[in-house]
Amino acid sequence: MAEKDLYAILGLPKNASDADIKSAYRKLAKKYHPDLYASAPASEKAAAEAKFKEINVAYGILSDPQKKAYYDRYGTDNPQHAGGGGFSGFGSEFSAGGFEDIINNIFSSFAGGRASHVDRANARIDGDDITIKLSIDLKEAAFGCDKEITVKRVEKCSDCKGMGTKNAGGMKTCPKCGGTGEKRTVQNSIFGQIVNTTVCDECHGRGKIITDPCKTCGGRGEIVKSRIVKVSVPAGVDSGQSMTYYNEGNAGKNGGANGNLIILLDVKPHPKFKRKGGDLFVEVPITFSQAALGCKVEAPTLSDKVVYVVPEATQSGTVFRLKGKGIKLLRKDTYGDLYVTIIVETPKGLNREQKNILEKFENITSASNYPKSKKN
Ligand SMILES: [Zn+2]
Ligand SMILES: [Zn+2]
Repeated sequence: MAEKDLYAILGLPKNASDADIKSAYRKLAKKYHPDLYASAPASEKAAAEAKFKEINVAYGILSDPQKKAYYDRYGTDNPQHAGGGGFSGFGSEFSAGGFEDIINNIFSSFAGGRASHVDRANARIDGDDITIKLSIDLKEAAFGCDKEITVKRVEKCSDCKGMGTKNAGGMKTCPKCGGTGEKRTVQNSIFGQIVNTTVCDECHGRGKIITDPCKTCGGRGEIVKSRIVKVSVPAGVDSGQSMTYYNEGNAGKNGGANGNLIILLDVKPHPKFKRKGGDLFVEVPITFSQAALGCKVEAPTLSDKVVYVVPEATQSGTVFRLKGKGIKLLRKDTYGDLYVTIIVETPKGLNREQKNILEKFENITSASNYPKSKKN
């Protein structure tokens, strides 16, 4: 089976760094995210979906140090396709845990130390995205609205510029790792010498120890801040759609990019109107006599009322379509329609006199008045 070049899928050369892989993935995932193609033509939607899947598969392998090392060596992520069968038969000789450990060790030496750098605190790390759910009502969704939301995010400490100390002599090289941020151990095994690299537990991989920590951030170089963000929701949005504010998420570390702020919209149900895309549906009750004789009704819309003439002999359940009285379509200049369902309300609690009149009326009606219920 021919395998696709996972680096090419992400638009990268084979020697791309972990930071490049992450950054390329984020860009492409944003570009092909299914949310953006919700109203696209079917073929465009399917193509974006396929691309989105492909990017995710590639990133799933290249972001996992063990899978990446295997892929870099064999050009596949699937041991069945690798040929050679180098690992077959080993399983029985080791307990499950021991076998995993050995495989992990082999992978870290195959990767030439690259994979083991992933968790080092001084590597460039992009900030995480922040997703906030914003509930709005149907009117706000239909006409758009401005909202202020409170966002708690990680920011670089401005007092120490992210260094963790305000004074140049406030940090020293870690004595335990000599500034590499790594702890190396050499282990002899049946596969030869295995070099194990782990994060230095003294400096947590920074390579430096802060001796005079910044008082604002306690030496962490970052602080959590609450901010008010003004959000402008465009007319025509619907539940499940999201708005992305690029670089407004958590701060990155060591020059990594900021994450994004994603506003996930939730449109609350309306007591009167139902919605389907740009179309609105509403029920309007009228009396039995109004239905028989015809009448003018006021049909509600989201902004005002429209007067509609109901013709005589209108049956319960009749639907009238008021063109363009629905919701504006997102990023378009067209509007959906308003569908008004007429419900004939049968009178309740009639007194003797009212009943007498209705009985008299009933007796003088025939199949020409009631072609369904009085048909012969
Ligand atoms: Zn600080
Ligand atoms: Zn150290």
